[in-house]
Formats: sequence, C-alpha cells, structure tokens
Amino acid sequence: MAKLYFRYGAMGSSKTANAIMVQYNYQERGQNALMLKPRLDTRDGERSVASRSGLSAPCAYVEELGSLDLSLYDCVIVDEAQFMSKAQVQQLVDIVDERNIPVICYGLRADFRGELFEGSQWLMAWADTIEEIKTVCWCGRKATFNARLMDGKVVKSGAQIVLGGNESYVALCRRHWATGDLAPMEIRRISAGKRAYLPLLLEADPSEAMIDRYLESGEMYVLSVDGKAAGVMVIVRRADGAFEVKNLAVAPDQRGKGYGSRLMRHALKLLAARGGAVYVGTDRSNVGFYERFGFAEAYVAEGFFSDNYDPPIVNEDGTVLRDMIYLSRRA
Ligand SMILES: [Zn+2]
Repeated sequence: MAKLYFRYGAMGSSKTANAIMVQYNYQERGQNALMLKPRLDTRDGERSVASRSGLSAPCAYVEELGSLDLSLYDCVIVDEAQFMSKAQVQQLVDIVDERNIPVICYGLRADFRGELFEGSQWLMAWADTIEEIKTVCWCGRKATFNARLMDGKVVKSGAQIVLGGNESYVALCRRHWATGDLAPMEIRRISAGKRAYLPLLLEADPSEAMIDRYLESGEMYVLSVDGKAAGVMVIVRRADGAFEVKNLAVAPDQRGKGYGSRLMRHALKLLAARGGAVYVGTDRSNVGFYERFGFAEAYVAEGFFSDNYDPPIVNEDGTVLRDMIYLSRRA
C-alpha cells in the first residue's frame, strides 16, 4: 500500500537536497519519480527546485497535476509543500489512495510567526507518516522556528508570504525565536545571494568588476555579530591548485575587535584539512597582519593595482598604489 509522507524541517535542514536524492534513488532503480512544487512565485518560473548545497532538479507545478500522465510515475515528490492549499493536499491523498502511488512531501511546519502553513496543517492531519528533518539553532538546541529577519532583527508580524522582498530567514530554537536573540558571533558559508554582501566586499577590493571575477566561483564566508554581517572572506582555488584568500573585509564600525583574525583563523583551519599552499595578495600596509599568521612574502605582482584599478587606489600619503604583494604558507 502506498503512503503519503510529510517530512518537515526548519529552514536550512536540507529538505530540497533530500527530495533530489530520493528522486535520484528512484532513477537509479530505473523508475520515474515526478518532482513537483506549488506554483507560488511566477518570478521564480524556471521550473526547478534548488538546494542551498548546489543540487538542483527540474520540476513541474502541483497546479499541473490534472494534465500529467501519472501512470508514468512510481513516486511523486513535492518540495515547498507548505505552500499548498487544502485542496491540493486532498489531490495528493487521492493519488496515494486511488492510484497507489507513494507521495513524499517536504516542507516547513510553521511560518515566521510560529503558525502552521495551510499545506503543512493538512499534511500533518492526513499524512500516513510524519518525519522530522532536524537542524540546529546557533545555541545547539533543535531549531524548530523560522525567524524572519528585517535589517538584522527578528520580526513577528507581517504577511505569511512575501514575494521578492528583502527579508531573510534563519532557523532558531523556540527560546531564541521568542527572545529574538541571534548568534552573538558566528561564521557561516554563504552559497546563494552573495552579491548582497557587495558593500562589505568593496571594503577590501574597491573594484566591482574585479570582485565579479571570483565571487561566483569562490567560497564565501560571512562573520555575523547579533545577526548583522560584520566581516566577509572569499576563498578561491587558483589555476596552480593552491588556495587564495581573496577578500578579507571587516565593516568600518566593527574594526579593532579581532574579526579579521577570526576569519583568517577560520580559513586556515578549513584549508588545513585540504592541504597544499595558501596565498594572500595585499598591499604593503597589510603585510604585517598576514605575517602574524605565518605567511611569508612569495612574489610581487608589479603594477597589479595600477593596471587593474580605475580610478587608481590612492595611499594615505597621496601616492598611487601600484604593486600587489603575494604571501604564502602551507595550509
Ligand atoms: Zn537557540
């Protein structure tokens, strides 16, 4: 007998990655698994589901169920299932009971106010099997709430769904959702929406064109204090196989607190597990900072700044910054 499954978890609990892996497992056995999501956002009309881990898969919309030939499928998978209506959940129940096709739904349980989404409410009521996908709050407790952040603060009122807004979400435990306390200090890898940190990135590299050369391919890490980005760092793989810390920037009002050092220690710890050499490129004034981490001068890229930056970067003494000093050490 086929079953209706609801697998719920907070933001960042790898629900979409799980959904894609289940589809892959069906395909490996020579079977078809139909990937669906509710058509909520016409702006996001690319017909695909995408995980923060980088996995993505094509999908159809739940709204199209009536026109799809379900006899071709051995399983139906629904991502973002919280956004379904009661009638759509009923449609899935009918697929399970009348056609004997298993349906596996992935979604959030509750919204940023702590209230059930419509789709989640009816899946909770009608699913045969309900499973939790766990993730943790910054404090280490289980994260069960999806806090909405506006300007770095937890907000608890507003529309359930905002399309195209500039709010963001973070998974918190119930206590920290209630108090609105965000991580005092944490470093996280950011894979999507990197350009939102451009003002910070420009602090260390004043050329947007130069930043664009490495931002997408690089690994970006953001140091946040009370939910606000205070520092950023990008690590890239060079053509010679070595790593380079490309952009290590701290917000002007957050300097002198050791955040740059924390990011550098974080990079060295990450890269120690990978081995090889690590490079940094800087102007003469910052050489001392890197030497404290065991870096030693490797070579000079003459004219790097004067050739690539227009307008030129001017030193405090009025001279134009010309050469990039490269330093390296073992990872
Ligand atoms: Zn917590």
